[in-house]
Amino acid sequence: MCYAIPGKILELRDNIAVVDYFGEHRNVLNDFTDVQIGDYIYAQGGILVQKIPKQDAILILKEWEERFFQLKKLDLKISRIKEEVGIEDNKFIKIIEKTREGISLKRDEVLRLLKTNDKKELNLLFKTANKLRQKHLKNSCCVHGIIEFSNHCRNDCLYCGIRKSNKKLKRYRMDVDEIVKVASFAVNRLGFKALVLQSGEDFWYTTEKLIEMIKKIKEKCGVLLFMSIGERSFDCYKRMYEAGARGVLFRFETSNPRLYKKLHRGPKLKFQNRIKLLRYMSKLGYIIATGSLIGLPGQTEEDLMNDILLTKSLNAEMYSFGPLIPHSETPLANASLENINTVLKVLAVSRLIDPKAKILVTTALETLDKENGRKLGLLSGANSLMINVTPTKYKNLYSIYPNKAGNEREIEDDIEKTLNLLYSLGRAPTDLGI
Ligand code: SF4
Repeated sequence: MCYAIPGKILELRDNIAVVDYFGEHRNVLNDFTDVQIGDYIYAQGGILVQKIPKQDAILILKEWEERFFQLKKLDLKISRIKEEVGIEDNKFIKIIEKTREGISLKRDEVLRLLKTNDKKELNLLFKTANKLRQKHLKNSCCVHGIIEFSNHCRNDCLYCGIRKSNKKLKRYRMDVDEIVKVASFAVNRLGFKALVLQSGEDFWYTTEKLIEMIKKIKEKCGVLLFMSIGERSFDCYKRMYEAGARGVLFRFETSNPRLYKKLHRGPKLKFQNRIKLLRYMSKLGYIIATGSLIGLPGQTEEDLMNDILLTKSLNAEMYSFGPLIPHSETPLANASLENINTVLKVLAVSRLIDPKAKILVTTALETLDKENGRKLGLLSGANSLMINVTPTKYKNLYSIYPNKAGNEREIEDDIEKTLNLLYSLGRAPTDLGI
């Protein structure tokens, strides 16, 4: 099982390696001191994560070669846009045309896109986002594994099922060795090349424990590691980077400071702190995955537009926007469920505004429409997925929202289902780097 295509190093310049993938050349960041021109490697998120023996690489590439070009052809066919008829507002078409020509949109134009509920306009918006994804990023789709290692949290966010006030929830923590074992299984047996380590804000895991966890995983696995553990000190993030973590999944949840204050209880949870931390992480060199919740009570289309623009201004490599799924044991239990089109609009507009970004189909979007959520997201500009590799006994306890998609499936089934979906859309489950 392989989620990244091996590439051959053509050139080494400072910390950059130029890598060949069936004739396509990509630059990847290189931390390794022992790679040479001609070596075969795996890269994820634009970072070299593993060197592999030549004979293994050649075998894998042989299996991939035919499929690689077939998938590209299918993707090209699916992403073609036929002339759109029946849209009455010429202004809408002009905005779409601007994005096709690579011209930046004004705020009122972005808002116009986010406000549409017209079926034909929506169709054109989603198809344009998919076309731009195809044009700029081709058919690569990253598939990251996620390990939810603790559902303890010191915070009380109003929308979250694992908030500390939820006394009905059975809590769990995986110790460092268990986390390393699960990560090693995911990478060395299932073939994942990028993993997200996620928990509530659980300070049982001291900086030392986190560093031990990262170092042990990096010793055993060639993997791109994302940390998703909430607000920690600048020093903690610096030391985790030095230990080998290279990405963070850290959402700001809403760009509206008033809304942020209402939803996040606790003296330390300030919107500005979160943004400061995100900017610091970016400066350290982390790959930033961030975004917001869609469907918060009181949230407007203007807020959603600001969420997208803020994500871009934070130099996010990956946009993570998911719907609020109300949880019965939270103060937002009675919030209404967001229409899936609102979520798809946010993904599509993100693609129009940042054509080269990775855009995630969140598990929350998959949960909103278990049958078609993933597919619709991928056809509306998204190009990134996650598969939950948390041990089955813990999955349902990481209940940030109820009935999470995929929890009912075994990991191997989930992988197979994901790959079949990607192949049916002409997508290659790989990451070809920057
Ligand atoms: S959203 Fe994150 S920080 Fe807030 S309660 Fe849930 S796990 Fe904790």
